[in-house]
Amino acid sequence: MSKNKSSESVKVVVRCRPLNRREESNGPAGSIVKMDIRLGQVILRNPRATASEPQKTFTFDAVYDANSKQRDLYDESVRPLIDSVLAGFNGTIFAYGQTGTGKTYTMMGAWMDPEKRGVIPNAFDHIFTHISRSQSDRQYLVRASYLEIYLEEVRDLLDPNHGNARALELRENPDSGVYVRDLTSCVCKSIKEIEEVMNVGNQARAVGATDMNEHSSRSHALFLITVECSQPGPDGRKHIRVGRLNLVDLAGSERQAKTGVQGERLKEAAKINLSLSALGNVISALADGRSSHVPYRDSKLTRLLQDSLGGNAKTVMVATLGPSPQHYDETLTTLRYANRAKNIQNQPRVNEDPKDALLREFQLEIARLRAQLHHRKWRSKQKKEQVDGEDWEGDVDEETDGEEEKAVEEYVKLEEQRLEREKQDIREDQFMLADEKQRLLGEKERMMGDLRKEQEATEQLTAKYKAMESKLLVGGKNIMDHTNEQQKMLEMKRHEIAEQSSSEREIQQQMLVQDEETVELRETFTSLQQEVEAKTKKLKKLYAKLQCIKAEIQDVNDEHVRSRQELEQTQNELTRELKFKYLIIENFIPPEEKNKIMSRLNFDTEEDQWKFQPLVPAESKSSQMKKRPASAVGYKRPISQYARVAIAMGPHSRYRAENIMFLELDMTPPNTASLDRSTDSEPNQSPSLDGSPTKEGGVRKSRSWCQTPKSITSSSSNVSLAACHTATPMTAQ
Ligand code: ADP
Ligand code: MG
Repeated sequence: MSKNKSSESVKVVVRCRPLNRREESNGPAGSIVKMDIRLGQVILRNPRATASEPQKTFTFDAVYDANSKQRDLYDESVRPLIDSVLAGFNGTIFAYGQTGTGKTYTMMGAWMDPEKRGVIPNAFDHIFTHISRSQSDRQYLVRASYLEIYLEEVRDLLDPNHGNARALELRENPDSGVYVRDLTSCVCKSIKEIEEVMNVGNQARAVGATDMNEHSSRSHALFLITVECSQPGPDGRKHIRVGRLNLVDLAGSERQAKTGVQGERLKEAAKINLSLSALGNVISALADGRSSHVPYRDSKLTRLLQDSLGGNAKTVMVATLGPSPQHYDETLTTLRYANRAKNIQNQPRVNEDPKDALLREFQLEIARLRAQLHHRKWRSKQKKEQVDGEDWEGDVDEETDGEEEKAVEEYVKLEEQRLEREKQDIREDQFMLADEKQRLLGEKERMMGDLRKEQEATEQLTAKYKAMESKLLVGGKNIMDHTNEQQKMLEMKRHEIAEQSSSEREIQQQMLVQDEETVELRETFTSLQQEVEAKTKKLKKLYAKLQCIKAEIQDVNDEHVRSRQELEQTQNELTRELKFKYLIIENFIPPEEKNKIMSRLNFDTEEDQWKFQPLVPAESKSSQMKKRPASAVGYKRPISQYARVAIAMGPHSRYRAENIMFLELDMTPPNTASLDRSTDSEPNQSPSLDGSPTKEGGVRKSRSWCQTPKSITSSSSNVSLAACHTATPMTAQ
């Protein structure tokens, strides 16, 4: 593995899943995908084409047909990448393809079945087995994070508050590239722990059923593993290498019409398609090699994959295909995409001693704790020696940790016994004054307390030290490797075979290209007739090639039209939504409020989002703060001159401020006896309105705070009310 900046192209492999039950029941059309594993070729048949139309052939680094095993793909195409990550490179594997073609199956697979475990669980095994088999002078720190991009928002899948959590921000740093701020990262010490992290994240992932896949992933998921390894270099100092692995399961590149989605799902699909088309544009720009601008910033996905595409990472792309004739167009698009990705060049390099290596921080912290602990133990030990009356000569370093701990424990025990003995002596001393006795006993008690506190502090420090240390994995020590020699040999042989078959394929592909070139050179013609024949043959061949290319152009055009139609559909959908939002704004939000909001909005290009400016900028708080209007001084709200005069004139209810402290309480309970009973009362008796209890018990109006008992009769409303009351008995009669 070289450390220079030589470039390396993205490795592209293609996998085709078997026909599923639904596709089999659709008819005997069979698979449209044929694979030549030896040559690494995919041959695609167009189900709508005539027999004369040539089939399309694509060549890749490796191809895996319906019978391929998870293990084959891993050993041949993924293992070398993980080895590079363990050596300190950045690595990315991403699965791309239409929904339901096996992206999640390839990346994750079926956990429980060892035969069907996908790339991610196999990578866990690989990493921890590597650590267990490495030399004991190496220290490792393994961390895992899990995130998803859902509706163009980055979400932390390990955050317990995942559903309600705020979207995370992307940041860029010259050393480590693009990273996610505040992303949870868990230190993992074993396969079991990292699997647990994966399970927690999987449960939080957004999935939804579409017509094409019952458990379709509605988001792009990224599982990130950071492996830091510290190893003594030739200069005797410890050097740290950091390998970052991105395991990406993309959401499906589906056609909206085919998946039968609507509403929220359609919005999801639009976002997914948008980010995938951004990915496509990035791949095209990189593969082209001529365009100076690579649109990484068009989507969150492309920004996160910036290092993996055209950056400093080693990248493997697994393009997944379905064999069904129904999805010919999508299969062709996926193959074109993959074919383009082959041309991307990366410049992988080892991350040696980066500034942000967490392992370094851990090592420093552990060293600091150890020094502290050492110092404490040394002090206790020295005291013990003094108690024993021996001379202190030894060096603490000469003793092992276990011996030291024992010595300290012994010292504490002896010290406690001594203090206890002294206390007993003081108690039994008959010549000492009671006061003196009390004072000495108190002193001893305090010494005992100090001793215990000291011991507790040491214990806490030890626990912290051990916890920190346990997070680091030491080569060949922390993890037991239960595989026996025979199994190890078997594994090694399998890797060798995988390597051999891939290099064989490479040679075959090269030979194929060379054959075509050299066949012309070898041709010698003995007669004119022969030459004509040969040239005619060649012409025919070239003509066929021309036809192929013409068909290809037509295909690309069709594809372009289709994707434009889809974009138009998305645009229509978005325009409709925009109109809906406008309608609400125009009709339900007052224009001045709208203007206020508009003037506060600011576009953050870094985050690609509109943001609110703070209401009052902190620095100009005093100058910006709105003045209280002159008419409101001393009042709750602006108030007219007339009202002020009215208030000054007397306690007129209308102008009184609504302060409930001024309200008189209505002490009489409301009486709601039946109206009929008022018929018994004398017709000319007007009901009392002053709140005093009436004998008849008719409906009584309770006195409001605004009614002073004497002024009531003058109020017109009360007059009509009184009239109403007097009228009641009339109607009842
Ligand atoms: P995607 O993630 O691309 O939407 P999935 O991985 O969920 O698709 O696969 C859809 C279905 O196809 C699953 O039921 C899965 O088990 C099955 N499948 C996919 N690839 C294979 C394969 N290579 N062998 C067997 N079954 C597969
Ligand atoms: Mg999936």
